[in-house]
Amino acid sequence: MVDNDELIKEIEKYAEENKVPIMQKEGISYLTEYVKNNEIKTILEVGTAIGYSAICMALVDSKIKIVSIERDEQRYLEAINNVKKFGLDKRITLIYGDALNTDLDSKFDLIFFDAAKAQNINFFTHFEKNLKNSGTIITDNIYFHGYTFMDEDKIESRNIRGIARKIRNYIKFLDDNKSYTTEIKNIGDGVAVTRRNDVL
Ligand code: SAH
Ligand code: MG
Repeated sequence: MVDNDELIKEIEKYAEENKVPIMQKEGISYLTEYVKNNEIKTILEVGTAIGYSAICMALVDSKIKIVSIERDEQRYLEAINNVKKFGLDKRITLIYGDALNTDLDSKFDLIFFDAAKAQNINFFTHFEKNLKNSGTIITDNIYFHGYTFMDEDKIESRNIRGIARKIRNYIKFLDDNKSYTTEIKNIGDGVAVTRRNDVL
């Protein structure tokens, strides 16, 4: 029987060869440690890709349940396949569709945004109701390969400038939000950890 470590390595290799932007090693270690140390049991992920981060988080503890949304059909189908290889289909629910058109009723200990970088404010507003009172929102790719805090004149692509600006707006949106405290961690491509403040 092939063990999980082998299967994980296969997915990492596949992602590299096919340019699927899965979480960087450092980021995924941080995320799985966070899940472990904070006894996270329910997770909503926006941006499944081929299921790598969902699988890594599910493997932390057998009580963990994950719902993950992906809008790219090909990737969604590959994620289904990968989740089955680990026998995790009972604990990882994959949804095919645009997250902003997906309405969920349940509440989660952790919400993980790892999808369209320019949409994070919209994701936050859309899914805030699905966060438990003591919950955390983690957002990946805050640095956007360094573009986020780069001088605008140094960025040639208008598209990249636009995304960088939207990420800065998201950081400001988080900082201005008095109901939450956000820390930006210098991990992988930059990770924002947003915790709801205790209501006194
Ligand atoms: N979390 C994954 C990587 C996700 S890559 C991992 O680390 O293994 C980002 C994915 O988000 C892409 O596959 C993209 O198709 C998806 N995505 C982007 N915007 C989305 C949206 N609005 N709704 C659902 N999925 C989205
Ligand atoms: Mg990412």
